[in-house]
Amino acid sequence: MGYVLTNGKYYIRISPTGATEKTLDIREARIYLTTDKAKERLQKALGKTRGYYILDMETDSKYQFSHGRIKFPRETRELIYRSADGRCALCGRKLQIDDMTLDHITPLSMGGNDTLDNIQCACKACNQFKSNILPDDFMNRITEIFMYQTRKRLGDGVKWRLLQTLIK
Ligand SMILES: [Zn+2]
Repeated sequence: MGYVLTNGKYYIRISPTGATEKTLDIREARIYLTTDKAKERLQKALGKTRGYYILDMETDSKYQFSHGRIKFPRETRELIYRSADGRCALCGRKLQIDDMTLDHITPLSMGGNDTLDNIQCACKACNQFKSNILPDDFMNRITEIFMYQTRKRLGDGVKWRLLQTLIK
């Protein structure tokens, strides 16, 4: 059980002075207990770890990165998809697994991490729309947009006042 950094040939080991080095011998590789820890090392030594990915030694799953973001393996994506009943967590639409994007509930840019409890299934449009907004702020924003657009459509009449009462 554990994760190593590899490019398929070399493995990353850490010298006694803490430097990032490569080795052909997996027995010398540094073993990380979480993908987060392994990712930290990848980011700390970006130059030396170019082309390296995280390998789960137990399942042989690869965790690759694009633009500093983790790319989950197929099995993990399927698990997330199934546990969401194949629906976008934001708008509720049914998705094909290939159309699913993984949304960070608390965005990475706001201190969220790559653990599964911070990941939800979302359609691309919702994910892009939510972008770097915290869940609560996002909900407030959606409500604001909905109220503003509805008011523009309905005017200040009875329907609008009824709707306001319903939402509060
Ligand atoms: Zn959606």
